Amino acid sequence: MARYTGSVCKLCRREGEKLYLKGARCYSEKCSFDRRPYVPGEHGQGRQKVSEYGSQLREKQKVRRIYGIMEKQFRNYFETAENTPGVTGENFLQLLERRLDNIVFRMGFASSRNEARQFVLHGHIKVNGRKVDIPSYQLEVDDVVSVKDSSRKSKRFKEVFEYNSDFATKEWINSDLEKAEGTVVALPEREDIDYPVEEHLIVEYYSR
Ligand code: SF4
Repeated sequence: MARYTGSVCKLCRREGEKLYLKGARCYSEKCSFDRRPYVPGEHGQGRQKVSEYGSQLREKQKVRRIYGIMEKQFRNYFETAENTPGVTGENFLQLLERRLDNIVFRMGFASSRNEARQFVLHGHIKVNGRKVDIPSYQLEVDDVVSVKDSSRKSKRFKEVFEYNSDFATKEWINSDLEKAEGTVVALPEREDIDYPVEEHLIVEYYSR
């Protein structure tokens, strides 16, 4: 499975905002964006005029990077959203939020979506009692997500649970870090998306 392997901090600088891709580091003084909040490269500090197409592209890239998805799969989500009844932009964000790696992160079982993806790929996560190692797996209401018994005792999971001890999960998710288990209690609504996104720009980008 192809994935981006370069510096993730550069992605924040490229998008001109913090995308919170590195867990604890993003909240520390080591955050690269806080130290150099401009686009990498020779002309990064100059004023940049952004066209309509440019702003659509940047919004699409920003959201794609937040969820760590490659272009082809991202477009597939858009096509599915378009063919689903309802508002395309909202359907699209809901499909992204229902990914297993995102929900593992949302439940506080990982410090970032990237780490959640690794946990899923390495077989540490179960859905309804069965191992699922597909990060894009779409969760439904009442699905129960848990960390495998042997894994939750590992040093890394203990560190994550400690770090996330006062982690506030979303209303559409229940999570119990002591049990390393959580439930999807509802599908996410538009107001549950907790980062600034103008999804209409993404719809316009793909509808050109
Ligand atoms: Fe982005 Fe986090 Fe890196 Fe800061 S530390 S630039 S928020 S990924």
